[in-house]
Amino acid sequence: MTATTCIRNAAWVAAWDDEIQSHRYVREADVVFAGNAITFVGKGYSGPADNEIDGRGLFVMPGLINIHTHCMSEPVGKGIVEEVGNPKLYMSGLYDPKPLFLAAHNMDLKEGQQDGLKAACTVAYSELLMSGVTTVADLSMIYDGWLDLMASSGMRIYAAPMYRSARWVTHNGHVVEYEWDEAAGQRAFEDAADFIATADAHPCGRIGAMVTPAQIDTCTQALLHDSMALAKDKNWPLQIHTSQSVVEFHEMTRRTGLTPIQWANQTGILGPNTILSHAIFIDEHSWVHWPTRDDVRLLAETGTSVAHCPSVVARYGQTLQNLGRYLGAGVNMGLGTDSFPHNLIDEMRWAVILSRIAAEDIENLRTSDVFNAATVGGAKALLRDDIGRLTAGAKADLVLVDLNHPSMRPVRDPIRSLVYTAMERPIRDVYVDGILVVEQGKVLTLDYESALDQLDLAQRAAEDGVPTMDYAKRTSRQVSPLTLPLDDT
Ligand SMILES: [Zn+2]
Repeated sequence: MTATTCIRNAAWVAAWDDEIQSHRYVREADVVFAGNAITFVGKGYSGPADNEIDGRGLFVMPGLINIHTHCMSEPVGKGIVEEVGNPKLYMSGLYDPKPLFLAAHNMDLKEGQQDGLKAACTVAYSELLMSGVTTVADLSMIYDGWLDLMASSGMRIYAAPMYRSARWVTHNGHVVEYEWDEAAGQRAFEDAADFIATADAHPCGRIGAMVTPAQIDTCTQALLHDSMALAKDKNWPLQIHTSQSVVEFHEMTRRTGLTPIQWANQTGILGPNTILSHAIFIDEHSWVHWPTRDDVRLLAETGTSVAHCPSVVARYGQTLQNLGRYLGAGVNMGLGTDSFPHNLIDEMRWAVILSRIAAEDIENLRTSDVFNAATVGGAKALLRDDIGRLTAGAKADLVLVDLNHPSMRPVRDPIRSLVYTAMERPIRDVYVDGILVVEQGKVLTLDYESALDQLDLAQRAAEDGVPTMDYAKRTSRQVSPLTLPLDDT
């Protein structure tokens, strides 16, 4: 028999209202779940309960949904990559020099040393859980032990192994070239398809499949067609980085005469199954000034979702310029962290503030818009209506926030307190699939501390590998000097 848990008299609840298709605040309410499903949200629950949680002093909200991050690699870049965008490549860090560190880290993959990769994933999953994320799309690469780690994390995870037909190279730091190997891309696609089918069938029931051709400019049309056919056949989401840099935008207009989004549309890969990661440098972005005004409309008309990851590109001085316009046109928006910090509440703050700055309009975006993106918008992108909301029948993925934490007080509007002040600090307990995975701010399912120790070692190893990877044989300290001069004596 499944146990029933009642969070009794919660001070505040962000409950889902099916009638108006929106979250709504409810005060002094009960949230009840049995097994992995929510059975009641509202006032005055009178049914049975095996466990009672005193909800006074708590805000109960749905677990957050992060639809784009790279858990295997990004954590190793902390303290290194925040300021290494390349001005001669329109500020992007994608091509040079950030990949030096990640490539050195990913060497583990080739050499069969999985410890650094597992440590990075463990740190990322732990930090996501502790900041209230219960579902994540992890765009990593396949390595031994990944599936077991996803299952044991207790988190809801979309396995999204990336593959591509070409890789980026620069020999001089101002031109990006493409090294094509179509056969390798096809093999990697087939491996990914096998892997995600196994992941999707995992008995834990929390792992999903995502078809992930890596980038719009690195995949052949044939590979994209195969990818889309698989996604449609299985009804799996497909995600691809698109309109993520000025270099990519120019490359696609040079090849095709179309913007990346227009070419994606012509190629037949836009649609409700598809998530475009970033979608920043669209035809109307001021950094590219392409003469058409079709990209946002195409996203809306085709039902394509966008994974908006504001903080990582903001570090390069870049931003999606008008999120309110995307939403107003009817584009479904989800949020992603992409990199560290693995904190979706922080992304909510960046999203709302950057869009107001870029659009020069405080009403461009409201806090409710980013809360929706972090919950039901992400769910829709993942083709689901049973997560990202607190309502009977939804999965029991929920977050208990301590309203007595100083960062939340005075409590007039818990979501605003979270987004503009508190972030992850008051998050007390997190449930995924009805199981407690974070208690009193500590993750129960993963060994966060020892993973941090491993990550220290992995970062040192990655830095040591930089000169051998770099076209100019620079050291890590030359590529990314420390914030202050170091007194080594
Ligand atoms: Zn990404």
